[in-house]
Amino acid sequence: MLIDEDRLHIAIQKNGRLSDISRDLLKGAGLRLQNGRNALTARVENFAADIMFVRDDDIPTFVADGVCEFGIVGGNVLEEFRLSSRGPAVEIVAELGTARCSLKLAAPDATSWDGPQSLAGQRIATSYPRIVERWLAERRVDASVVKMNGAVELAPRLKIAPFICDLVSTGATLEANGLRAVADVFDSEAVLIRTTRSVAAVRQELGEALLSRIQGVLETKD
Ligand code: ATP
Ligand code: ZN
Repeated sequence: MLIDEDRLHIAIQKNGRLSDISRDLLKGAGLRLQNGRNALTARVENFAADIMFVRDDDIPTFVADGVCEFGIVGGNVLEEFRLSSRGPAVEIVAELGTARCSLKLAAPDATSWDGPQSLAGQRIATSYPRIVERWLAERRVDASVVKMNGAVELAPRLKIAPFICDLVSTGATLEANGLRAVADVFDSEAVLIRTTRSVAAVRQELGEALLSRIQGVLETKD
């Protein structure tokens, strides 16, 4: 794809829990997107910006590489990215107060739990291995982390791991799988991120303009 030097590039989730939130925020900031839902990019009609619709997991990379100046992503995905890359070139410029959820440790209802030491020598299945490893290290617990890219809540039943660490908002999914949360590992909300790489002057200015519009939207929400 040809990157237009005179326009900003904003990465948002194509399909998922952050899609509507992201579109609404940009809309609230006065940006009118041109293309429909299935396009991979959209031109903004009334502001020099292009929107890229991608997997949420790719958003930190795009912003760190400077392919996009801005992105909207879950704090959990950003944190996992930060822990896995050296000197990640991204900063959080706004907390969006939405898409709140927590990474929680959970286990089958019958599993006994006397605090983090109950994890010693056990396996934990998660999509967020770095966040879980840091949490374990902070508590000096020696457990092994198994990375799964989805369906983490099946791990205990499949005997992959007796514990899981997964995103929870209402707890309904845990309950439906006979699991209960035993500890909070990371609290998350959607965040607006910006590249910390140097950006051409035109785009720097556009970025400031966009950011102040978004901050305006967020202030009226508080
Ligand atoms: P993609 O196809 O883009 O990779 P995904 O399946 O990884 O999508 P979603 O399920 O759409 O991602 O979740 C995106 C983000 O929404 C999560 O990373 C998290 O920050 C947030 N979120 C809020 N509540 C929940 C929840 N109950 N379960 C999972 N994610 C949640
Ligand atoms: Zn994802």
